Order: sequence, then C-alpha cells, then structure tokens
Amino acid sequence: MITTINPYTGKELKDYQELSKKEIKAKLDIAQLAFEDWKNTSFEHRAEHIRKVGELLRKNTDSYAALMTDEMGKPIAQSRAELEKCAWLCDFYAEKAEGYLAKEHVETEHFKSYVTFEPIGVVLAVMPWNYPFWQVFRFIVPALMAGNVGVLKHASSVMGCAELIEDIFLEAGFPEGCFQNFVINSDEVEAIIESKIIKAVTLTGSKPAGAAVASTAAKNIKKAVLELGGNNALVVFNDADIDKTVQTCVEARFQNTGQSCIAGKRLLLQENIADEFLEKFTNKVKELTSGDPKDEDTYIGVMAREDLAEELEELMNASIDKGAELHYGGSRDKAYFAPTILTDVTSDMPVFKDETFGPLMAVSTFKTEAEAIKMVNNSKFGLGASLFSQDLKKMESLATQIKDGAVFINHKVASHPALPFGGTGISGFGRELSHYGIREFVNIKTVVIA
Ligand code: NAP
Repeated sequence: MITTINPYTGKELKDYQELSKKEIKAKLDIAQLAFEDWKNTSFEHRAEHIRKVGELLRKNTDSYAALMTDEMGKPIAQSRAELEKCAWLCDFYAEKAEGYLAKEHVETEHFKSYVTFEPIGVVLAVMPWNYPFWQVFRFIVPALMAGNVGVLKHASSVMGCAELIEDIFLEAGFPEGCFQNFVINSDEVEAIIESKIIKAVTLTGSKPAGAAVASTAAKNIKKAVLELGGNNALVVFNDADIDKTVQTCVEARFQNTGQSCIAGKRLLLQENIADEFLEKFTNKVKELTSGDPKDEDTYIGVMAREDLAEELEELMNASIDKGAELHYGGSRDKAYFAPTILTDVTSDMPVFKDETFGPLMAVSTFKTEAEAIKMVNNSKFGLGASLFSQDLKKMESLATQIKDGAVFINHKVASHPALPFGGTGISGFGRELSHYGIREFVNIKTVVIA
C-alpha cells in the first residue's frame, strides 16, 4: 500500500493499492492498443484534445492546486502558477507540434530524399514530486502530440496528483490507454522497461534513480532521457543592477521552497559588491513569509517530506563543521526548514559540491571573471547558470565558457516551452521542451527515392 501524507499537518491523506503484475501487464496491453489508433490521428485531432486539457486546468485550477499543496506542501499561489504553466504548454504544443515534426526535404544526389518524424509507441515516464503536474506535462504533452502514448510511474508522495492527471486526460476525451497512471513502487520499474511494449523511458529525479533506469534501458537497447539534479550558480559581477539582481536571486533560490532542480543554489559574488549585495539579499530573505502552504501569503511552505529536510540539515551542519558561517536561518522543525544563508562557502564543502534541495543559499566570493567561471564549472552537475552584469557582450562571451545546458543572463534559469531544457554531466542527457524535446521519442526516418 502506498500512503500519501500531508507534510504540513503530518496527517495521512490516502492509501493507494499497488497494481499487481497481472494488472500492469493488462494496462500495458491497453496502452499498446491505444497507440495503434492514436498514431494514425491527425495533428488537428491531437491538438483539439490537448487544448481541452489546458481548458480543464484553467477551469479547475483551485481544486487541482489544493491537492498539490496538500500532497507536497507547495504554497497555494505557486501550485496555481504551476497549473497555468501546464495550460500554456498545452496551447504551445497544440499550435507548434505539427511544424516541429513536419517532413524535412534534404538535397542529395538522389531524385528525392526527406526525413519524417514518426511516433515510436508506448513511453514510460518516471517522475518526481517537486512539480507534480509540470514534470508530467512536460513529458506527456509533446509525446501525445507526436502520436505516442504514455504510462506514468509518479513519485509515491504525489499519487493523488498522478491519479488526477489521468482523470483530466480522460475527461478531455483522450481514449483509454493514451495516458495511464501506474500505482507502483520503484522496484516494478525495471520489469516494465523490459516489457516489449515499452519503447523508451524518461526519468526526472535523482542520480541513483536515473542510473538504475538508464542501465535497464541500455541493457534492453531502449532510449532513455534523464533530467537529474542541478547545482546552478548565480554569478553577480560588480556592475550588476544590485536591487533587481537581489530580487531575482531570492526567487531563483527560494521558489518552491527551494526544491527545484534549476534553483540557483550557489551564489557567487564579486568581492567589491559582496557586502552590499549580501545585506540586501539577507533583508529580502527575511521578508519571505513562511507558514501554512494553504495561505495565500505563504511563500515558504514546508519541504515535501521530513527526511528531505533532515538531509538538508546534514549538508548544512557538515559545511559549518568545515568552516562555513551560518549567516541567517538554519533552524528546522519537522519538514519545515527556515530560509537559510551560509557564507564563506568553499568548494570543498557539501553545500557547494552537492545538491541542496531546499531553502538554503550557499554564498562564496570571487575576484576575477576567470575565477568565477572556474567556480561555476567546478561541479559534477551541469543544468544551468545565471550571470548578472550590465556588460551583455562580455556575458555572452563568458556564456560560451560554461559547460551547462543553459546560461541565462540577468535572469534566473527557467524552463520555457520554446527552449530546450536539460543538462550535462550528472544532470543527465537528452532534452525536453521545444522541437528538440518532441523529437526525442520519434523515429527520425530517412526516405530516399533514387
Ligand atoms: P527520486 O528519489 O530520484 O525519485 C524520482 C522518481 O524516481 C520517483 O518516481 C521515484 O519513485 C523513482 N525512483 C526512485 N528510485 C528508483 C529506482 N531505483 N528505479 C526506478 N525508479 C526510481 O527523486 P526525488 O527525490 O523525487 O526528486 C528530487 C531529485 O530530482 C533532485 O535530485 C532533483 O534535482 C531532481 N529533479 C530534476 C529535474 C530536472 O528536470 N532535471 C526536475 C525536478 C527534480 P518513488 O517516489 O516511489 O521512490
């Protein structure tokens, strides 16, 4: 039995009975049957259905947001914003998918040569709890628009959201089997990937989960896309617009109570402005309202599970032991972790090296641009980095020296339907969103007429 728990109240929400092996097999068969029809539908037909999903998200925002907040402690205003972003994604791919997958003619010595992008079948998604709707939508919306169908193994703590998403697709008119939620534990995932019916797998989550899923996929010669953790740097140069940058950095770190793969986790300040910046940054952090995630004014909720807050506390304490200074915050009460700032952070400390998946900012200083870039790149992760300066030309040039999957200048790293999203290093491989994302799970077929 999988039991969901409200991390704010500590109360149990609901029990979910796991599927038996026989039920899993039956559902995979249904998915395959659904694919046989869905792959032949027109883009217009698919777009009509996807738009309907977006309409439902907008119509029922309040009730859907309430469930997300109950299950993972996300402040209610941020839950609603997540749903609006999902609706935007629906509209976006409903409009763009056909163009993204249009036949491409290529000049060769042959009479005619072209490339088509054809659906591959049933794709498995293994997803995390931190954006319980967005992570799933980012996968399933382009997958369905490409003519594939999907099955979901969602994080155990958000089983209610998983069930609800399945209901939304059915209510929007998608045939049974186009999108199914599997109530299963992670130890069932291996056998599902091995099933003949599953053609590829995408996982968003931690490195151990990614390694397990990608190994099974590789053994079975199936494609995997991995969106794993991040340790993004926010680099503030002397000539940055301090007030604007302070606000951006606070949002980059503390939105979603710090539980975002693309959160800015390492704040790197150029020495001349470090004191002024830190003072203003700390004042803004002090203004963040912690409280009941259901209150409209709450910005910092609780972390999604108590054990995650404990892990963050361990990283913090181990870094303090190594010489970091606890500049602000640092307290924990069950799943609540107070917004925290650590200063004097050096590259040998856990809060610099590892991913802090909660409301804790690790602050370091640098003297030169070269030193800053070295610090940004001194990470096993490679999801993204933000650079703040008025010298845009110089920043564009520095962007080329950063090994990550994204560089944002004077902005926090954020996903956007039109832009590819993904990492390098242990942040994973493959891309989601944009035309790159929709082409991950298609057969890129060459057709030649001699
Ligand atoms: P997680 O523990 O890796 O869980 C993610 C999903 O994988 C869950 O559905 C989980 O199921 C499943 N899972 C865990 N171990 C597995 C295994 N051995 N085989 C198959 N499935 C397995 O990660 P999380 O704690 O939910 O999420 C936090 C992590 O995700 C952070 O590292 C974060 O940076 C990363 N993340 C990355 C992105 C991105 O786009 N790059 C976005 C969001 C989060 P159970 O819940 O049943 O264990």
